[in-house]
Amino acid sequence: MTHCSGCIVRNKNCAFIKRDCKKIGKQFRFCFECADMPCSNLERIDKRYRERYGMSMVENLKALKEKGMEEFLRVQREKYRCPECGDVVSVHDGKCYACGYVKRE
Ligand SMILES: [Zn+2]
Repeated sequence: MTHCSGCIVRNKNCAFIKRDCKKIGKQFRFCFECADMPCSNLERIDKRYRERYGMSMVENLKALKEKGMEEFLRVQREKYRCPECGDVVSVHDGKCYACGYVKRE
C-alpha cells in the first residue's frame, strides 16, 4: 500500500491534528472520513498554511478523498519536485532534504 511520504509517517497519524482531536487515529486515519470536516481545529491550521505556505490542507484532503492516495501523491510529487534530484522539496522551507537544494522565489 502506498503511504504518505510527507508529514504522515507510515502507520502514524497526522501530527498537526491529533493533539487536539479525539477521533483521528482511533475512529479513522484521515480528516475527510469525519462528518465534522472541516472542524475549527482543521480550519485554523488550513488558514495558517494557506497564508504561509500557499497550500490548503482542506483542499488536499478533498483531493485525496476524490482521487485516492496514488493519484494524489502523483500530483503532489510533481508539484513539489526538486529540480536537482527529483525528490521533493519541503512545503515549509523549500528545501530538498535529499540533496540540499533550496528553492528561491
Ligand atoms: Zn533534491
